[in-house]
Amino acid sequence: MSDKYQGFVSSPIGKLLVKNLGLPNPTKLERYEAGDPLVDGTVLVGGTGRLAESLPGLLDVLGIASATTAGESQRFKGLVFDATGLKDSTELVALRDFFTPLLRSLEDCPRVVVIGTPPELVKGPERVAQRALEGFTRSLGKEIGKGGTVQLVYVAEGAEAGVSSTLGFLLSPKSAYVSGQVVRIGVHGKAEVTEVADQTQPLAGKVALVTGASRGIGESIARTLHRDGAKVVGLDVPQAASELQALMKELDGDWLTLDISGDDAPQRIAHHLTEKHGGVDVVVHNAGITRDRKLANMSPNDKGDRWAQVLGVNLTAPERITRELLDQGVINAGGSIIGVASIAGIAGNVGQTNYAASKAGVIGLVDSLADELADGITINAVAPGFIITQMTAAVPFATREVGQRLNAMAQGGLPIDVAETIAWYANPASSLVNGNVVRVCGQMMLGA
Ligand code: NAD
Repeated sequence: MSDKYQGFVSSPIGKLLVKNLGLPNPTKLERYEAGDPLVDGTVLVGGTGRLAESLPGLLDVLGIASATTAGESQRFKGLVFDATGLKDSTELVALRDFFTPLLRSLEDCPRVVVIGTPPELVKGPERVAQRALEGFTRSLGKEIGKGGTVQLVYVAEGAEAGVSSTLGFLLSPKSAYVSGQVVRIGVHGKAEVTEVADQTQPLAGKVALVTGASRGIGESIARTLHRDGAKVVGLDVPQAASELQALMKELDGDWLTLDISGDDAPQRIAHHLTEKHGGVDVVVHNAGITRDRKLANMSPNDKGDRWAQVLGVNLTAPERITRELLDQGVINAGGSIIGVASIAGIAGNVGQTNYAASKAGVIGLVDSLADELADGITINAVAPGFIITQMTAAVPFATREVGQRLNAMAQGGLPIDVAETIAWYANPASSLVNGNVVRVCGQMMLGA
């Protein structure tokens, strides 16, 4: 599966047409390969606030080189601005003063992170100024170009030490297709900051369940969690058994074949994880289906009942499985539950009332559990935009082209982009990252 347009624009004739016709010209995004440095370049740290002083030290632990002043004609790979010190709207000018002189001299695929205080946790003029950061970062994400990304990380007071895994993700090529996002740290639930001994194997000794693991995004999630040190338990329907087994053998993992929407699926999964692995640390609800049809044409007598199938697999199954694993104490302390929503669940889509309801429901599941979970267990979700897989290969050509170009990066994402975001949530050092829904959509123009 590939983006043919992107291949075409890098050919000599394609380059000529792009120039003369003003066609979209997607930048080839840098992606992380095992063994690469996390950030290939220097990150400039600026601003004044609760984190400014500790940031260089936090970056150093991650192996990221940083500077606090810019030398003459020095180029940067990333910029981190601590905006937690901005107490009213007149102080927002500090953003322009810091960023404007730097933006023309950034390296390719640059990374920008603005750090703020969650507006809902402060009052008056400070709340106004902190809320303003969202419009700033989302707009800069659309302006930055060259495959760059821009994010806003709201860090609650007292949660400063829990920011490092998030910086590692957002400053590295692991977040290639994530832009214009707002992440909250230390806002939901209560947990201690967890440190990991080996930054390249944060999941060493952990067990990760991945549903729908035999192909597409699920396969990439399984590979990425394995790369990070996890023992992966792949799950898929019996029809996908041979692909699933081959992959799990390659990853030295374990497998389970069943339909997650089956009545006894939650009990069978809980039993398997308890008996064979003594519990589970990471649960990724990736399996999902589409059965598109406009609502006016959707009836219970449909072939297979499109409504019931999609809601059953995409929403009711993750809800029931999560509930069973929690009730039976199968999820270990400090574990993470990760949902796979969709941009369709945020913006809506023609022909997808069933799918969008199921995916918005996955966001609801995150909201409903984030404050309730005990033992440092977290729940978060990704909302992918247009990701090039067999699911999207079935989309008609014209719709597919629009889907791929209508984002700040003018291209579709890859399964690895979703997988890296999930690996960041799963990282035990992300113990204060709870209740988030991050879109992996190249900052799609649709939806918030
Ligand atoms: P895919 O169809 O390639 O893979 C889905 C996997 O889930 C398959 O292996 C399938 O056998 C498995 N599965 C389906 N129903 C199951 C069931 N009842 N029990 C167990 N396993 C089941 O899809 P994908 O593109 O890799 O999508 C993965 C997830 O990402 C889905 O939840 C999808 O809704 C979501 N998503 C994808 C995109 C995209 O652009 N591809 C965008 C947004 C969200």
